Amino acid sequence: MPNWPEIIWISSNKKDFPRVLGINPWIYDFAAYNFWARPVGLISCLTMLQLVGCEVGLLDCLYPMWRDVKWPRPARYGTGPYPRVEIPKPYGLEKVPRKFARYGLDFNAVKGALRNMIPPDFVLLSTVMTYWYPGLIAVIELLRKIFKKTKIIVGGIYPTLCMDHAKKNLDVDLIIKGPVERDDNWNLLTQFMGLPRCKVPFRISSKFYPDPNFSIILGSRGCPFSCEYCASKILYSNFMQRPFEDIYEEFLFDYNRGVRDFAFYDDALLFHPEKWFVPFLERVIKKGYKVRFHTPNGLHIRYLTKDICVLMKKAGFKTIRLGLETGNFLSRLDKKLTKDQWDIGVKNLIEAGFNKEDIGVYILFALPGQSDEEVISTIEFAKSYGFRPHLAYFTPIPGSKLFQRARASSIYPIEEDPIFQNNAIWPCYPGGFSWEKRSFFRQRI
Ligand code: SF4
Repeated sequence: MPNWPEIIWISSNKKDFPRVLGINPWIYDFAAYNFWARPVGLISCLTMLQLVGCEVGLLDCLYPMWRDVKWPRPARYGTGPYPRVEIPKPYGLEKVPRKFARYGLDFNAVKGALRNMIPPDFVLLSTVMTYWYPGLIAVIELLRKIFKKTKIIVGGIYPTLCMDHAKKNLDVDLIIKGPVERDDNWNLLTQFMGLPRCKVPFRISSKFYPDPNFSIILGSRGCPFSCEYCASKILYSNFMQRPFEDIYEEFLFDYNRGVRDFAFYDDALLFHPEKWFVPFLERVIKKGYKVRFHTPNGLHIRYLTKDICVLMKKAGFKTIRLGLETGNFLSRLDKKLTKDQWDIGVKNLIEAGFNKEDIGVYILFALPGQSDEEVISTIEFAKSYGFRPHLAYFTPIPGSKLFQRARASSIYPIEEDPIFQNNAIWPCYPGGFSWEKRSFFRQRI
């Protein structure tokens, strides 16, 4: 076995505090692409534990952790493909006409890195999509073989939305439901680790990434809206905004080490912008930082005021994604947008100087009961403004208002097993995913 390199460990110089390893598992899926993806919940948890006194490290299976790792050439602004290895399709999805793969670091490199390290006292595992749990299970199996005494803790979106399934299927010592910065979860975690009772701020450090070509900014948790198809309200029951100085400090750390691409992770970036967003942009403009900002999460078009658009343009926003969802304004599954708000918002963006080609519009696709005509007319609507439509394949979210309708319309048992909630199989589209239909819609974009 080659001598695999060590990952970065961050110590607090406090004695007798545990050593905690965070792992972001591989993705097991039909498709995966890095749109500025980072396990923000896991990173914030590790950052907070380091503030308490723990020694912390991160092994992100979706990041080239070591210099000699083979990784596909990045695309624009830090996005790009992951390495992939084809693997058998999960049980029940054998007939899906797509290839299934493990995305991320080489399996043996991860195994080697784990074997090479001093066993941590705790491993924290994150999960993003509910249907990515096979990647999580693969990491857990590896950990159980390599570390005999290490306690394994799982959190993130999968157990938060599918607790019963997680309890039945994961061989772990603790499962956390909901965000770790919530007082009850933080107390549960720190007690389990035998840490002193303490309260630390919600912080995000990107020190775990040795040489990142992008970084993320998260100024808030949750969203004040509760759209029928969305997980935000279930994951974060309260909308919370962070102190401006903390966000700025985190940004500055990465800026000073040469990072120039930053993706905002907020679900409601423009809500109450006076709290931190406006002061942040004003500071960036005043200091003359040359950066590119990206908004992979759709922006609330109703909050695109003239002033906000001008600030965003001056500060260096490059990739703009708008949450249109549907052009049928009279029967929406949300209350976040009217036609008038759309017209005003996009006019403000263009007048502020944004190029139409930098503006992408998210359109929900394969919702239960949705007609092809609605999707096509929404594509035409977005194109009539000169914007690029992006089909956002619908993912059924357990606990959301739309989930029961999704269950009734799906050809898959989406309630029984989260593996069937994968948006790549179009779980609620009549007949499921097909290449013919995919190119039919692609041709119209
Ligand atoms: S506005 Fe966006 S983030 Fe908020 S609930 Fe609706 S879809 Fe989710």
